[in-house]
Amino acid sequence: MKPEVRKLKAYTLDDTTVRVKLDAMENPYSLPSEVKQEIADAVKVAAINRYPDPSAAKLKVSIADLWGIGTQRMILGNGSDELIQYIIMAFGGPVLIPTPTFTIYRILTKSLSQDIVTVPLSRNFDLDANKMLKTAKAIKAKLIFLACPNNPTGNRFSEDAVLKILKKSDTAVVIDEAYFSFSGKTFLPILKDYPNMIILRTLSKLGFAGLRIGVLTAAPKVVEYLNKIRLPYNINTLSQAAAVTALRRKDVLNRQTSSLISARQRLYNALSELNGITAYPSESNFILFRTTIDATAIYEKLKESGILITNFNKQGVLKNCLRVTVGTSEENGEFLKVLKNALDTA
Ligand code: PMP
Repeated sequence: MKPEVRKLKAYTLDDTTVRVKLDAMENPYSLPSEVKQEIADAVKVAAINRYPDPSAAKLKVSIADLWGIGTQRMILGNGSDELIQYIIMAFGGPVLIPTPTFTIYRILTKSLSQDIVTVPLSRNFDLDANKMLKTAKAIKAKLIFLACPNNPTGNRFSEDAVLKILKKSDTAVVIDEAYFSFSGKTFLPILKDYPNMIILRTLSKLGFAGLRIGVLTAAPKVVEYLNKIRLPYNINTLSQAAAVTALRRKDVLNRQTSSLISARQRLYNALSELNGITAYPSESNFILFRTTIDATAIYEKLKESGILITNFNKQGVLKNCLRVTVGTSEENGEFLKVLKNALDTA
């Protein structure tokens, strides 16, 4: 086994069964029953004895229709995680990322035996464009990942900083827009101006995390190369059938997204009013917050009460930080109630 693989820490998720699951940025709502029935009908007639459509042509048309991404400039992945892996396989390292950011960039870079270099975000979790550019040059970076909005901090990096990096670096720059629907802002309109730009999106945060469908768009040449390393049948037949059917209901998706954006605001306000909590502004479907007392104790208390969030508490910028996904009003209320209690009894 390669030493870099042996040294890796696996991307583990807490699989405790919980009452209120607010750890993985999933959409908490289910679909209206008539949409579920349509999905069941589509799945029923799907030919699972055959291999899937290797190019997922119908699904690409549905996604083109949803987001205005040309099908010729699109690659689908088994989640955007898979697309991140393809990008690193194709471009190689060194890979440059700001920190803290989505942990998968590091894990996949290391597992492919490439070097990863980090540049800290500023105190308000924004990008230091000059430092990123200087470091990219010094290490001869091949690839930069910018999650925008960023996970786990929840904010969008300033547009000027992102544009500066795009313009002034000659490396490929991946803008990971996993959470763009909750910010309503995207870099997609300028994609055609930057041959070094790759945009990632996912259906996971829209309510289809279980289908595993990630979306990549970039210059046609980049798409052509990445397609050479894509596994032939990476989007399974049932996911293709279910997603094509579900995506017809843009009205449902839009309604759920708006509802989560309002719930986020209410949750943010409630967190900000609590003594001993600093909540960070979010343009995503989750909120990062810091506690004045030991965050791990709070995390454990929530878990004992059947509420699962994510604990980022270790030395460094995320000391005493926890991340909570925006859930339904009931879930958020339940979380706040137990959190208040944990703070009062600490
Ligand atoms: N990018 C970011 C920034 C994320 O936070 C996540 C999910 N946690 C992903 C990509 C991966 O999403 P998926 O593989 O479900 O498409």
